Amino acid sequence: MNQSLIHLTDRVWVYPYEETRDRPNLGYVRGDRLCLAVDAGHSDAHIAEFHDALKAAGLPLPDITVLTHWHWDHTFAMHKVHGLTLANGRTDRHLRDFREKVEREGVEAFLAMDESIRREYAGNRPVVIVSADVAFSGAIDIDLGGCRVRAFEVETPHTDDATFVLIPDEGVLFIGDANSGVFPTWKRDPSLAKKLTGTIADLDARIFVEGHWTPTTKEDIIRDLLEG
Ligand SMILES: [Zn+2]
Repeated sequence: MNQSLIHLTDRVWVYPYEETRDRPNLGYVRGDRLCLAVDAGHSDAHIAEFHDALKAAGLPLPDITVLTHWHWDHTFAMHKVHGLTLANGRTDRHLRDFREKVEREGVEAFLAMDESIRREYAGNRPVVIVSADVAFSGAIDIDLGGCRVRAFEVETPHTDDATFVLIPDEGVLFIGDANSGVFPTWKRDPSLAKKLTGTIADLDARIFVEGHWTPTTKEDIIRDLLEG
């Protein structure tokens, strides 16, 4: 079922997450010259819905797509993005490694990982994994025209390759699945959770967008992290 975009702030929209197929929120930032997406999506079907929603809202397709981390539900639609994909070097390495694994062992092991993956890839939908067009390390600043975006690496308890995407003038921060534990046990390393709590506390944003939840506040994220 196609959903509608949520208009979060003047320049930021979100295509909402879906639990059944474990589809994450897809972010969208409109600059005067360039448009940027946050995360590519779970499959070609997912990104097609996102593009349809953008067209329905009269918004241009993204020129740049930044990845929050390598996990399949955020990245395996990369082969269908409009424009360039941008990831930190670790995310790019994880994608290359996983592509090699699937080429070597077939898609069965991937499909066996979770019911939500089998739902997304029902009907023999092809699993296509590509690496990023541009890899960065540390942080990168992007000027979309009248709107600045900063993507930067962060240590998190979820994966070792997290990127946050901050839109300072809009007060919006995309954090991917950073505050979750490790797939599939969802256990959080206490020291990494504590470190992330400090990182989040220092960041200046009003709206925090997680991968698989409705946009929320800094206080909410910190409360969740402190629950252990
Ligand atoms: Zn994840």
